[in-house]
Amino acid sequence: SFRLAQRLHGLPQPATIAMSAKARALRAAGVDVISLALGEPDFPSPPEAVEAAYQAGLHGDTKYPPVGGQPALKAAVARKFLDENGLSYAPEEILIGNGGKQLIYNAFAATIDPGDEVIVPVPYWVSYPIIAQMMGGVAVPVPCLESDRFRLTAEALREAITSRTRWLVLNFPNNPSGAILERDDLEAIAAVLRDAPHVLVMADEIYEHLTFDGRRHVSLASVAPDLKDRILTINGMAKAYAMTGWRVGFCGGPQPLIKAMTSIQSNATSGICTLAQAGAVAALATPGARRDAMRDVYQQRRDLVVAALRDMPGVTCALPDGAFYAFPGIGALLGKTSAGGRAIMTDIDFAEALLEEAHVSVVPGSAFGQAGYIRLSVAASDALLQQACTRLGQFILTLA
Ligand code: PLP
Repeated sequence: SFRLAQRLHGLPQPATIAMSAKARALRAAGVDVISLALGEPDFPSPPEAVEAAYQAGLHGDTKYPPVGGQPALKAAVARKFLDENGLSYAPEEILIGNGGKQLIYNAFAATIDPGDEVIVPVPYWVSYPIIAQMMGGVAVPVPCLESDRFRLTAEALREAITSRTRWLVLNFPNNPSGAILERDDLEAIAAVLRDAPHVLVMADEIYEHLTFDGRRHVSLASVAPDLKDRILTINGMAKAYAMTGWRVGFCGGPQPLIKAMTSIQSNATSGICTLAQAGAVAALATPGARRDAMRDVYQQRRDLVVAALRDMPGVTCALPDGAFYAFPGIGALLGKTSAGGRAIMTDIDFAEALLEEAHVSVVPGSAFGQAGYIRLSVAASDALLQQACTRLGQFILTLA
């Protein structure tokens, strides 16, 4: 009965909230729960970042920062975009935010009017549709099929675009599917976008450095420079540098958009923590080989987990080309009953029973708009992953 803003009415409740509460309760009761539910690197942040943040603090870099970002970090980000993505952004075309998430929020807040549509390829990271809806927008899910390795096709995109479309969200490497888009895919998508000049593109490239088997991430704005003035390229320190808690994200985009986003940020949070920004500058200067070493570890873990999943009856698993998740299909197991007597009618039932009976915490695919799947993070040690797979396999074998 407490009155909340209209804007919050009807927002989807992520299926993950009840799950994590349950996992916490089990842990508190002394149960050894293996959590593969979080999207967080298990590596430490670069020591250079910690040292730089400490030094910044000692040297008095503790005052209000400029809202849009410290000049040194903007310069480091501009260099990163140029060297790694072939994208040239001036300082006024760059914004530093409290993680990639705040930049998504700022961008939607700056552009979405009630009824505007945001095309969100499925499966999607939960925050895009929620933030779009918070702004009065309408999320338009567009299926990406497992048979297409969860890639967005140009045909599916073309069908989804209407006169009300404001944004296309392009999150590849994708959370949760691990799908990537290669140059050909991006060229086909760019061709569709050329016929729809009213559509902005949010290229969320936060998993860019986590691509496997020698594949390399390609930025849409570099494939289609003629579209650069309507592409917002979002990235951040969280995944590539294992700096989730520092809350530093960055983006490059058209200046009028960046200006409006900066103004929103000014009224929401002001600039980003000075010490975190100093840490980000130092991290961006660390050798890429270190990032690559983490990526290679994720790739080995992916192989371990995907092989184990493919051995389980009733489970399918596309090989993720990037990010650090496995996204197996469990549709063939629905309709069964668990050893503990739970009816497994949905992926949410599956995840709940798996947690309660086998003590492995995963995220049901429904949370990402893709029923019949579950997401497992492979950002955990080999030993934990092996143990989790053993428990999952055992759980599945006892379904009747
Ligand atoms: N984009 C995607 C696809 C993500 O998975 C995440 C984090 O889970 C983010 C953006 C936000 O990252 P952060 O706000 O930690 O920079």
